[in-house]
Amino acid sequence: MGRLWFAQKLLSHRGKQFIFSYCPRLIYSQTGVWPITDDELSHSTKKEIDAFWKEKYKRFGQEPIEDKDDGGSKGKKYVLSMFPYPSGKLHLGHVRVYATSDAMARFYRHRGYKVVHPIGWDAFGLPAENAAIDSNKMPDLWTHTNINQMKEQLQELGCNFDWHREFATCNHNYFRWTQSLFLRLFQAGLAYQKEAMVNWDPVDQTVLANEQVDEDGCSWRSGAKVEQRYLKQWYIKITRFSKSLLNGLSDTALENWRDIIKIQRHWIGECGGYRVEMDVAEEGHSSAGTNQRLLPASRLNLWMTQPELLHGISFLGVHHGHALDTEAHRGHCCGGHQLLKVHAICPLSQREIPIIMSDSLPYTEDTEAYVGIPCASEEDRDISNNFGFTVPHVLENGRLMNSGELSGLSLAEARGQVTQKLMEKGAGGFPTSAKLKDWLISRQRYWGTPIPIVHCPSCGPVPVPEHQLPVELPKISHFPKRGISPLKEAHAWLKCSCPRCGQEGQRETDTMDTFVDSSWYFLRFLDVNNEEQPFSFKLQETFMPVDLYVGGKEHAVLHMLYARFMQHFLASEGLVSHWEPFKRLVMMGMVMGLAYKVKDSGRYLTKDQVDFSVKPPVELGTGAPLVITTEKMSKSKNNGIDPQKVLEIYGTDTTRLLMLANFAPASARNWSEETFPGIFSWQNRLWMTVTEFIDIRQNKDPNLTSISDKERKEHEQYLWNARNHALSNVTYIMEHTHQLNAAISFMQALTSSLRKVPKILMVSEVFEHALAAQIIMLSPITPHFASELWAGFCSVVTCSSLQKEVSLMNQPWPEVDKDYPLPLRYFIQGEKPQQVKVPRRMLDHLSADQALQLISKEENFQQFLQGRTIVDTQLKILPGLRATVFFTYSVHDVARAKEELKKRKEEKKKQKQENRMKRKQRAVD
Ligand SMILES: [Zn+2]
Repeated sequence: MGRLWFAQKLLSHRGKQFIFSYCPRLIYSQTGVWPITDDELSHSTKKEIDAFWKEKYKRFGQEPIEDKDDGGSKGKKYVLSMFPYPSGKLHLGHVRVYATSDAMARFYRHRGYKVVHPIGWDAFGLPAENAAIDSNKMPDLWTHTNINQMKEQLQELGCNFDWHREFATCNHNYFRWTQSLFLRLFQAGLAYQKEAMVNWDPVDQTVLANEQVDEDGCSWRSGAKVEQRYLKQWYIKITRFSKSLLNGLSDTALENWRDIIKIQRHWIGECGGYRVEMDVAEEGHSSAGTNQRLLPASRLNLWMTQPELLHGISFLGVHHGHALDTEAHRGHCCGGHQLLKVHAICPLSQREIPIIMSDSLPYTEDTEAYVGIPCASEEDRDISNNFGFTVPHVLENGRLMNSGELSGLSLAEARGQVTQKLMEKGAGGFPTSAKLKDWLISRQRYWGTPIPIVHCPSCGPVPVPEHQLPVELPKISHFPKRGISPLKEAHAWLKCSCPRCGQEGQRETDTMDTFVDSSWYFLRFLDVNNEEQPFSFKLQETFMPVDLYVGGKEHAVLHMLYARFMQHFLASEGLVSHWEPFKRLVMMGMVMGLAYKVKDSGRYLTKDQVDFSVKPPVELGTGAPLVITTEKMSKSKNNGIDPQKVLEIYGTDTTRLLMLANFAPASARNWSEETFPGIFSWQNRLWMTVTEFIDIRQNKDPNLTSISDKERKEHEQYLWNARNHALSNVTYIMEHTHQLNAAISFMQALTSSLRKVPKILMVSEVFEHALAAQIIMLSPITPHFASELWAGFCSVVTCSSLQKEVSLMNQPWPEVDKDYPLPLRYFIQGEKPQQVKVPRRMLDHLSADQALQLISKEENFQQFLQGRTIVDTQLKILPGLRATVFFTYSVHDVARAKEELKKRKEEKKKQKQENRMKRKQRAVD
């Protein structure tokens, strides 16, 4: 900042000579003079450029867009990057995600969309609490300090977020609505308590969801071996929407989900059965049914492929170690199974159903209990007979009997009725898989959203009335050692009167899993100051769904499944207008770093401990041989890179380029300095190009050699092609595939073309247009550097069609010229996509018939068509970019068509073999 201040001071003197003699490296935007030609673009100059333009663009994109006039706008784009946990420091994975979402948001602005690009903080959670225990300070202090630090870093990275939408999930005007949504779930019967075996992390002293336990049975966070314990826990019944969540994955609105669909499908499982829930009671003390004592929070979740056989159940089975398996409950044994002195109650007939404990029953996957139905299984009949259980006779000639209202119905007829009844009673009845579990959201921790429930000795769990929300976290002066929920110690807060009967009750002391906080944050971003509702229907209708969701692949299951569940639930309640929250995904792979491991000991070295002067490198001092691998960055492997350091050395825009170039977003990214020189040199070539352009336009280059008109025309045609080629490809990539690395390659190719032509071309209008397109295309990725180039460029351009008075940030994205030939693609069975070129003016308005006519002229298509008739043609046009024609054909001569395909395949195979041979031959030579 010191230099900037100095520069501004100097500028106030308005003396260019003066500035130059004292501070030769000042940038153009400050001095109005472009540096001399042989001035190499240094990192410090780049950093000055960043600083200058950052200051200038502080307010850019910060004005609310809700009421903005729509005139001419193309519509909205909601670009969302997964909000970070405020750990205090950005890591390179963050840089990758936020640089990508920022580039995309900026691109859409250039394209004329109304862009929503928010950021906030997933601020509840364990690290804050652990820090609080260590320092005995309130976690909010730690959290807010970290938020400030990370916000600064994000700004350092040049991210243009909608800061007016910022919030942290620990703000009471956010979690107040998280609580409200919890109550909605509770009222809909989708939040419930259950005594259950939970995964207990002995290090963090908390419960983990199944998904947070890795394959080796260790905690995803602490790495500790997870133990099993029984605790009364809050669950959210995500299974209620399993079918809907599964079907949603086939929604054609979802774009670019790729393997995420597979992962989620696998997680949800095949919804081939139904949920049936049964309360459990201790053995009747007097006459059955009248004096049975319900065991609270012990409801069994059954899974039945044939729920219509409900009245045919004669017993249930649970595993050893089930919550019902206590000393007091164990009864007599029979044939290796043990009877429990509890029974389930049929939700429809109130019939008591015996429960046995056995590990040898054929349980389905991860289901909680086995359902014994003698009419469907010989083994079940034997078990029932051995124990002397009643064996209900419910099936005769394909019709139900002894089944209450279902008697006389066919199985198919009965299914609809029985599931309907179960749904009405809140006892299941919905389709789900045997695999998907309800979502355990209880955490025995302080730093989370308090669950808004009061436990009353008479009424049981009672929701806190809406007008009393939020249930705030009590301030506590002392953090108890890990092991008990800190809220249990906040005695004054704990006591409260029951909202229903007024008796003294106790507040719930569990807080919610932070995944609840992040299951709806994208809706709040749209209406962050709303005090009446979590969000307004109108705003979500306008801006949802999220058009582009950028984040780490590792969130494909947990977060994205919970967020989809919440959205489905809200849609079922009529609160949102879309069932799927995220339209298009850009899932990022991990950032990897080089790790240096001593071969014998396996010890990881820091880079300073490696001797690079010998090849291959060895340990410095000892000369011990090393194993050099690329691994996920981590402290223990000494291969982490601090983005702050990268930013300090190279500045904002270069860091963004280093991160975005060379690797496709979804792939793991090696962070290697080998890729750096290519980027530096490209920036320098861009800089040189603008420098030379300015020189020539100012007649400062005396050595220009003139060329013939014919040559000039050829070069102009070449530049025109180069501009359109880069533009159509970069635009297509940014808009449709988001492979920013590929877009960067096309931009680099354009720079090469600009530098290839004789310098005299720089006086031409064609060159001017190509350079303008180059700079505007750079703007989303390196906004500050591009702005500096733009300022220099605009100081000398002459063409009136360029709007040089408009700042780069507000420049419209350039268009492909009307005469430029664009690809019309088509597919021939068994071949790579083929294409013919069609001038843009024609392609944009093509009809399906015209498209077919065009490709019909192609020889390969004519050949393919022999023996076939086109019955349908579909055309998809992306105006200014490309078009694809899809056709359906009928085959007259099936045998010949097959023969042809076979022949083509053989030819290809032969070709491949030949190529291989040639390559081998070359290798030998
Ligand atoms: Zn009460």
